[in-house]
Parts: sequence; C-alpha cells; structure tokens
Amino acid sequence: MAVKKITQKYEGCIGCGTCVALCPKFWEMVEGEMKARPIGGKMNEAGEYELEVEESELGCNKDAEEACPVQIIHIN
Ligand code: SF4
Repeated sequence: MAVKKITQKYEGCIGCGTCVALCPKFWEMVEGEMKARPIGGKMNEAGEYELEVEESELGCNKDAEEACPVQIIHIN
C-alpha cells in the first residue's frame, strides 16, 4: 500500500474553512487561531503540518488541495 504525505503550510492558512467543509474527516479548525489543520497531523521544523495517509484513503483531501484558495495544501 502506498502512503502519501499531506502537508499544509500552517502560517499561510487564512482560515477560510474550505478544507474542513470539503473534507471534515481529515480537517479541523483550530480553536482561537482562525486556521485549519489536518486532524492528527504533526508540525515539522518548517512550520508545516504533515499527515501520512494511505493513497486509497486520500479521497476528499485531493479536493481540499485543489480548492484551498492560498494553495498551501500539498499531497506528495
Ligand atoms: S482551505 Fe486552505 S486557507 Fe482555507 S482553511 Fe483550509 S488550509 Fe486554510
């Protein structure tokens, strides 16, 4: 099974909520921050949240990647 890594440049998030609306199983708003993050993600030294997901379970994360207005969500 191929594992894909979702990354999100947290600082650039404008808190629009699109990722949460499109993909609520994987994304949540951060209380008091007006930003979103991947649920269960870990922040790396570069200030990006990272979450590993089976390729077959990526699903709506691709929609979030495409729809993010500031294009800070990437799947590799
Ligand atoms: S879609 Fe992008 S800018 Fe909007 S809340 Fe999600 S990560 Fe932040």
